[in-house]
Amino acid sequence: MEAVTVTDLPAPPTPAQQLDTAEQQASEELHAIIAAAVAAGITGAALLAIVAPLMNAVSRAAQTGWTIGTRIAMNAAVGQRMGRNAYFAEPLPTSVEADVAAVVADAAQRVDAAHTGRPTGGVPVTPATPEVELARFQRRMVRLAVTKIHQAASAATYSYTRWLGLDLEWVTRRDGKACAVCTAMNGQRIGPGKRFTPPIGRGIPRKLWAGFQGLPPAHPSCRCRPLPREPRPRT
Ligand SMILES: [Zn+2]
Repeated sequence: MEAVTVTDLPAPPTPAQQLDTAEQQASEELHAIIAAAVAAGITGAALLAIVAPLMNAVSRAAQTGWTIGTRIAMNAAVGQRMGRNAYFAEPLPTSVEADVAAVVADAAQRVDAAHTGRPTGGVPVTPATPEVELARFQRRMVRLAVTKIHQAASAATYSYTRWLGLDLEWVTRRDGKACAVCTAMNGQRIGPGKRFTPPIGRGIPRKLWAGFQGLPPAHPSCRCRPLPREPRPRT
């Protein structure tokens, strides 16, 4: 019988893979909650009734993102480096509760408008069918969960590298799908507690997404990450 060597064991998932898994789990969970809620009919009331479970699901996803972001920072803390600055947890740019509530309220109005055939509340658009609005709602909820996962991962990495006194480098996704903003950000380095500066120039929108406050993600569906780097000597 052959001995199992360490090299036979599967490699542990990378942080990027862990983030992908977290996105997938959140997507499945959100779809299940929404499917159960509209089983008896697609109505605005049915969507409003699941605000709390949706908030819980997105909060759990964000918590997973925070844990992954913490690991990214702590993996860089080699040599028993101790935190030299005060530690405090960086908050997300906007809260899970507020974001979920806004998406659900808008979707409920759109679904009701689709049933009556005329705009309802603050929804100025030509109503689509309830099924179309439901599909739109599902996409928006998943995109929100993905955003919160990445905002939380970034905030955690930021909080711990600030504590440890490490630099951060903006690293874009490797699949060539980074937008003009993120491509311009790639490789930018900041010291502990500093924020990334948005680029200016050709192809860069003058007004960036409100959820971007100096840390990735720069926009919904952005998969950029801040990665810890040893601080460069400063003069
Ligand atoms: Zn990006």
